[in-house]
This record gives sequence, C-alpha cells and structure tokens, in this order.
Amino acid sequence: MSLTKISEDLFERARAVVPGGVNSPVRAFGAVGGTPRFMESGQGPYIVDADGNRYVDLVCSWGPMILGHRHPAVVEALTEAVSRGTSFGTATPGEVELAEEIVSRVDPVEKVRLVSSGTEATMSAVRLARGFTGRSRVVKFAGCYHGHVDALLASAGSGVVTFGLPDTPGVTGASAADTIVLPYNSPEAVTEAFEAFGDEIACVITEACPANMGVVPPSPGFNALLRELCTARGALLIIDEVLTGFRVSASGWYGLDPVDADLMTFGKVMGGGLPAAAFGGRAEVMDRLAPEGPVYQAGTLSGNPLACAAGLATLRACDEEVYDRVDAAALIIGRAASDALATAGVPHRLQTAGNLFSVFFTADPVTDFAGAQTQDTLAYRAFFHSMLDQGVYLPPSAYEAWFLSAAHDEEAITRVAEALPAAAKAAASASSRG
Ligand code: PLP
Repeated sequence: MSLTKISEDLFERARAVVPGGVNSPVRAFGAVGGTPRFMESGQGPYIVDADGNRYVDLVCSWGPMILGHRHPAVVEALTEAVSRGTSFGTATPGEVELAEEIVSRVDPVEKVRLVSSGTEATMSAVRLARGFTGRSRVVKFAGCYHGHVDALLASAGSGVVTFGLPDTPGVTGASAADTIVLPYNSPEAVTEAFEAFGDEIACVITEACPANMGVVPPSPGFNALLRELCTARGALLIIDEVLTGFRVSASGWYGLDPVDADLMTFGKVMGGGLPAAAFGGRAEVMDRLAPEGPVYQAGTLSGNPLACAAGLATLRACDEEVYDRVDAAALIIGRAASDALATAGVPHRLQTAGNLFSVFFTADPVTDFAGAQTQDTLAYRAFFHSMLDQGVYLPPSAYEAWFLSAAHDEEAITRVAEALPAAAKAAASASSRG
C-alpha cells in the first residue's frame, strides 16, 4: 500500500472549503471509495501525487494529454507565450492560427468560434442551432455527455451516471422540457421522434462516438442516418467531438466516420491541457453568431493566448507517428486488461473504437446506456484500487474510457501489464456476481 497521508490531509482541508473537496465530481473517488490522490506533477506517461507516489496515468486529464505530460514542444510554446502576457481581451494572432488549424483538419468546419470549455461549446452550439432554425426542441441520446448544460443533462453519462443522478436538482422543468432523450443506437427511436416532432426539432446532438458511458461505438450507419433525418426535416446535426476530436485521428472521429455535421464541438486535445474548446461548422450557420448575426455568444477569456499556444503546439506535434503510438498502446493495454480479466474469470467486455477503449464489467456487448448500467461496479472498484496500489491511475469510475498518450512507452505499458493479473483477481473476489 502506498502512503497517502498528505492526500488525506489535503482532502480534509479541501472538503472544508470546496464542495465535496473537488472541483469536478468524478475526482472525489465517490464511485470507487477511498482518498482521492492530489497530483503535483507529471512527466510523459506518469503523474506524481503529493505523497510522492508515481502512477502510470491512464486518465490523461480525461483526454487532453495526448502527447503525455510536459511535452517539450508544449512547454516551450507556453513559456514563450507567457513571456508576452497572459490575456489581453483583444483579438490575438494565435486565435487565428488555431482556428485555421481546426478548419484545415475537419472538412465540415468552415468557421469556428473559440471558447474555454466543452460545456460552453455545446451550450453555444445548441443556442445557435435554435437561433438558426427558429425551433426549440433538441434531441439527445441517453448516456451521451455534452457537459453540464442544463438542457443536455437529462440522462447524461460521465459524472452524472457515476453519481446516480439521472437528472439534477437545479435544472428546471422548463429548461429540460424541450429536450427529447432517446436510447442510443436505435434507428427506430430517432425515426419515430422525427415523425412525432419533425418540424419542431432544432437539432440532434450526439457524441461522435460515445465514450462517457464507457465506449459505445455508433452502429454502422447510425451517424449517417442522423444526417439523413436532420436534412430531410430541416434540423441541424451537432456532432460533439470534444472527447474524440484530434484524439482518434488528426481530424478526430470525422477521420474514421466522415459524416458531415452542420455544427461540431471540440475541446480537450485542442487546448493541450489548458482551457480551450470550440464550436464550428458551416459558414452559413456560424455567421448567425454575434457580431455577424443576432445569436449572442461571448467570453472574457475566449481564445486565451496561453490556451491557444498550448493547443496549437499540441495539434502541430500530433503527427502520424503520434497517432500510431497511441493506437498501439491502446491496443496492447486493452487486450492485456481483457486477457487478465478472462484468466481470473471476471465477466467483462473490451469495447474499442479507434484508439478509444473501455472495459465494461458485464458479459454482454454494450450498445446503449441501459446495457452500460448492467455493470458490476463492485468488481470495478476492487480492480481500480488494486491498480492504484500498484501505481496505475485508472479512471475512478466504471463508466469512463481509459486514455493513453504517445508517451506511453514500453516501460509504462509493462508496468500496467504487470499490475493487471492481481487487479483482475481482486475484481474476481469482489464480484457481486461471483
Ligand atoms: N462533450 C463531451 C463529449 C465530453 O466528453 C465532455 C467532457 O468530458 C464535454 C462535452 C464537456 O467538456 P468540459 O468538461 O470541458 O466542459
């Protein structure tokens, strides 16, 4: 067992001044129990907590750190940017370069607006879709997480499901009333919703490939069907690539499944570990935004020079070799986890989509949120803690993808592989179905 005294003390201090002791719920370890680790530094594939324990990082800041921690190109770009000033509240050259970089990579995106979080990106995209179409209803899918936007929290994945809050107090009936929540991967449900509400639907928003209820790939043709139905009924299609964007390929999920959206949202990798996100799409739609058009949207720190510098340096460093390395590391670790669990007799499913993967602690293939919720979370809890004690930091929830970086080298991968058999045995003993 590693020493965690400093993290314990910090958690106690934090709980006195921060709700739950954390600034984003999943960090509190509520789903797995125990003391959350307070991280102090990172290097490559490793993170180090306040007690000095070093972990192979399989969370990677929930996606952004595709190059690993403290990548020299990102550190250099940030150091150079910070020496010029941290924020001006004016237009800056870096914003133009980052916008050009995004537009050049993702065909359906002709114009892009920079914001500071994925939540802001999806919230603004939905507002724009409503403003553009003059309609109010929004279709979303159960288990898809698009940030903590009031209208999009109904049946969201990620922390909302981790904490068993299907809906959240504070979201009024009025702000959720225009949200239609459908089961994921069900062509019948979407077709019926369009039959019932077609002319009132402003947009369909979907994760390009859902990864916030664990990884649940769209069934072949599902995103294309959404495109068809939206086009036929005059609704906009918003594809949320906050998580997949620039992670699964140089042009995100679009590179693997090229379905043209009207609007797309980005975050995580494009900020290189700093708060940057974006929404973009067809110029005709984007030009409805203020100051060009009437739909208001703004931000004091939008296009922040440090965030743009880190994002640009990250995107520019993401060459083919980087994606090859992430793909290879994901393949090895996913398979090793599945092999170890199979050997220990733990029912599970390894689900992959490009270099995204997650391990569901359930025997059946998972195609929607209801399937994801059949997991044995007790088994995951034991698995997680065994890995943690052996120096591997997994997502502290059974409902999340595992994230890798190009810095996950042989040494880091070997450390994970060596920890897996004991963790799988712990999961087998803890299984509520054993
Ligand atoms: N959309 C997706 C697909 C996400 O995975 C997330 C965050 O995990 C968001 C939106 C919200 O992004 P943020 O946490 O930056 O607000």
